[in-house]
Formats: sequence, structure tokens, C-alpha cells
Amino acid sequence: MSQMIHFEDVTVAFGRFKVLENITFTLNKGDFLHIVGPNGSGKTTLLKLLIGAIPKTSGEIIKADVRMGYLPQKLHTKGKMPMTVKEVIYSGLNRQPLCCLKKDDHLIDRWLKEMDISDLKHQSMQHLSGGQQQRVYLIRALINEPDLLILDEPTSALDPSFREKFLHMLDRLQKEQGMTIIHVTHDLTDAVKEDCLTMYVDQTIRFYGPYRDYQVFEHEGHRHV
Ligand code: ADP
Repeated sequence: MSQMIHFEDVTVAFGRFKVLENITFTLNKGDFLHIVGPNGSGKTTLLKLLIGAIPKTSGEIIKADVRMGYLPQKLHTKGKMPMTVKEVIYSGLNRQPLCCLKKDDHLIDRWLKEMDISDLKHQSMQHLSGGQQQRVYLIRALINEPDLLILDEPTSALDPSFREKFLHMLDRLQKEQGMTIIHVTHDLTDAVKEDCLTMYVDQTIRFYGPYRDYQVFEHEGHRHV
């Protein structure tokens, strides 16, 4: 198994406040990791470190040089968003020649169908519901077939039936395409968990390992929400 990410004793402080401390873990290519923890425990900060959006205060981060897809938690969709669904998705494609190539257009159509929003292709983003917008941003994160997919609470605005479909889609992408997936969630109940890794973060890593061992950790009452 080859290594995708390694953190060695990483700390992030904002002023004197340490958000993350002594973070050490390794994730291999093809792993599916669920990250859980209480509000404000540093989960989003960990993802931002990974994508290079914020600097570490100390420690070492080693990351394979691969294509990444990222779905942020805050989608900044409040207020005016004068772009269509197609334009938002297209802006996520690696190649962006002046005009949209036919094959890219077909690719966008395929994903819109997969996400059950074909009819929204030419709609303005500002007229969409939160759940519809979230599906558009999911397509944007997935359309380049990233090797590493990083999702910060991707299902928070999705309705339950689509959430289930989406989580199974992730499971398929990991199993069939070998995609490495990091999934921050506040609710593990409907996630596909067998064979997955789980991390429980609360400023530091309190648990990291296979899901079946996490259940023991949970039952022993280590988890605080
Ligand atoms: P989680 O995703 O687990 O809810 P976050 O990583 O968003 O937690 O935040 C962890 C803590 O770090 C929170 O107390 C938050 O207020 C604080 N924090 C996050 N970003 C900043 C920042 N840029 N400056 C100061 N404090 C921050």
C-alpha cells in the first residue's frame, strides 16, 4: 500500500489558542476515512491544512502529488451568485479552453443525471435550494475524477434518500476506482462504514483506526459530543 498523506506531530494555533495539537497519522492510497468529533474540535481546520488553505504552526505534512477534489463546508452561496449550474461545474474542470468542448458538455450532462438534477443545468445558482446547490458543488468536486476526494459535511443539506444514494456512490468510487476519500461528518449512522477508517478528533486525535474498533471506543464512553 502506498502512502497518500502523512502528518507528523502537527500543531495549528490561532494566536495562543491551539486548535489542533500533536496530530500524527498516515493515510494510504485507496483508504476511506470518516472524521468525526464535536463542534469546534478542529475537523475543518484539519481539512484546510490538507488542501494548503492554512499553514501549520509546527510539525510535518507529507502529501502525494495527486489530483484533489474538495467540497468545503461553507459554500458561500448566500446573496447573489450570478452563475449558472453549468458554469459552476465547468469552473471546476482542469481544462478550460475558451469554449466548452462537446465532450466536457457530455461529461457535465452525465454527472447532472447521476445527481438527479439534469433539469437544472441552465438555472442560476441563486435560485436553487441549499440541497440542490450542494449537489452542484459535489459534481464540481468529482468531475476531474480526483485521486483524493476531501468532503466537509457533504450531506448536510441533502434529503435523506439522496444522502443514502450519495454515500453509496462514494463507496463505489473508492472500491471500483481506488479513490482515496476523506469525509468529515457529524453523523456516522448512515455512512457506509465497513472496511472504513474512522478518526475521532477533539483538538488531538483521540481515536484512529478501523470502524469496528471505533465502536468499542464509542461504547467505552470515550466519545463526547
Ligand atoms: P470543526 O470543523 O470541528 O467544527 P473548526 O476546525 O472549524 O472545527 O474550528 C476549530 C476551532 O478553531 C474553533 O474554535 C474555531 O472557532 C477556531 N478557528 C477556526 N478557524 C479560525 C481562525 N481562522 N482564526 C481563529 N480561530 C479559528
